[in-house]
Amino acid sequence: MEKTVLAGLRLDEIEKITDELKASKFRAKQIHNWIYVKSVADISQMTDLSLKFREQLEEIATVTETKIKKKQVSSDGTIKYLVEYPDGECVETVLMRFDNRANLTACVSSQVGCAVNCSFCATGKRGFIRNLTYKEIVEQVLTIQRDTGLKVTNVVFMGQGEPLLNLENVNKAIELLNTSFQIGARRITVSTSGIATKIADFAKANNQSTLAWSLHAPTNEIRNKIMPINKKYPIEEVKKALNKYFEIAGRRITIEYLLIKDLTDTLECAKKLVELLKDVKCNINLIPYNPVVENDYKKPSNNEIMKFKYILEHSGKKVTIRLERGADIDAACGQLRGKVVEK
Ligand code: SAH
Ligand code: SF4
Repeated sequence: MEKTVLAGLRLDEIEKITDELKASKFRAKQIHNWIYVKSVADISQMTDLSLKFREQLEEIATVTETKIKKKQVSSDGTIKYLVEYPDGECVETVLMRFDNRANLTACVSSQVGCAVNCSFCATGKRGFIRNLTYKEIVEQVLTIQRDTGLKVTNVVFMGQGEPLLNLENVNKAIELLNTSFQIGARRITVSTSGIATKIADFAKANNQSTLAWSLHAPTNEIRNKIMPINKKYPIEEVKKALNKYFEIAGRRITIEYLLIKDLTDTLECAKKLVELLKDVKCNINLIPYNPVVENDYKKPSNNEIMKFKYILEHSGKKVTIRLERGADIDAACGQLRGKVVEK
């Protein structure tokens, strides 16, 4: 008989198992706590359960079947895991810590590979392999917690894959992060390349989480060149969908804007971006391009980045620059490919 995997089960689902074993609902609570808060890897570690009960449980269940295939630690403390699922497919997940904050942020993947194929991103180069189930998504957070013994406080869907093309699983994963992991919806951010037709659905299910749009260019002309998805969902259409988002969720969105030297970082781009975002309630997060071997884009100089930032700030927006994390282990934005590559 195949054993039930406990990781990814809700409390009421664990209660069904304890009922089956004729144990009290309180046992289910204890198991739930061992899985999501203390994050053990094995039933034998659930030491407040009697030895006999643990043995009974072990006969029919196991904590997880997800493995760490590879782990890399960056000089800045960022950790990148290559997580392997039972079918042998792998994705990357990244743990980021920032010195001055107590937050531990997990950057999770929503798909194996990605069909969107943005020209600047390593994930897209692999094509689309498959969606992750919601259990596989939360297993990434559990992998981090089990390995480090720490509790993740924030989750960003900014790893591999386009979350809105796997929305059902992403919604269920967020629900589990809220209820079982006790990670508040406001500590969860989902980043999308702009799947206009799914934005309202996302808002209905997650009106407390943050939506981030990878805009990356101020005109359709430039955006078409770097993000083929723009031909399907051009800028105006995503903007229209965002109006719906504001109606439903009433929350400010984050605009992610990639700075590629001489392509998206020009003075003209900055001015056009100001114009484009005039009527959009948003904060702007500038992402200096991180090098990926498959293309020869360049990152702008710090001076150019600051100039760009200043122009946007002058228009009244709140602008931040994304700190580069884990570039020495290819864990920075856009560098995740989900397999081991020889360089
Ligand atoms: N698929 C989603 C989320 C994952 S990527 C999306 O595209 O929004 C997280 C962010 O990293 C996105 O804004 C993405 O465009 C950006 N990114 C991709 N490749 C990059 C690179 N080489 N350098 C910097 N950022 C990159
Ligand atoms: Fe997919 Fe996002 Fe990479 Fe584009 S940037 S290819 S949408 S993962």
